[in-house]
Amino acid sequence: MPLYEFVCEQHGTWEMIAAHTVEALPCPDCGEDSKRIFSLCARTTAHWGDSDWGINGRYDAGLGQRVFSRGHQDRLLRQRGLVRESDLGGDKFVEDYKTKAYAERDRLDKVSQTYTDNLKKYGGDKMKAVVDTFPAHEMLAQSDTITSTGV
Ligand SMILES: [Zn+2]
Repeated sequence: MPLYEFVCEQHGTWEMIAAHTVEALPCPDCGEDSKRIFSLCARTTAHWGDSDWGINGRYDAGLGQRVFSRGHQDRLLRQRGLVRESDLGGDKFVEDYKTKAYAERDRLDKVSQTYTDNLKKYGGDKMKAVVDTFPAHEMLAQSDTITSTGV
């Protein structure tokens, strides 16, 4: 595919390898449509590797599309209401969140299993099973937490 030059009204010209049918692409700086102006028959090495992003940008798997600059990436994140993981208190945010979620799931699985066991133990008496599964002191502690957080 040939290298084409595109022009953004605000940011001037930039180049991109594209299919000849592509008449416009989002500007790498503002995302506004940039119209193709003419094709370049040769490209110079200066056009390659002069930024981390290169002239073709790179595919962002998280966003599911090609991204041309950090500014472009920021803009897409904002538009979609997303936040960089590193802005959430470190690159381990998602991992930590998953660990906590799995621990909570395991805890609830245990509660569920305890209830099932108690139901058997009390021959299907749900009230006895509930009382034995959810001790009053734990329920009171949880309701204190709920009250104090205002949820
Ligand atoms: Zn622009």
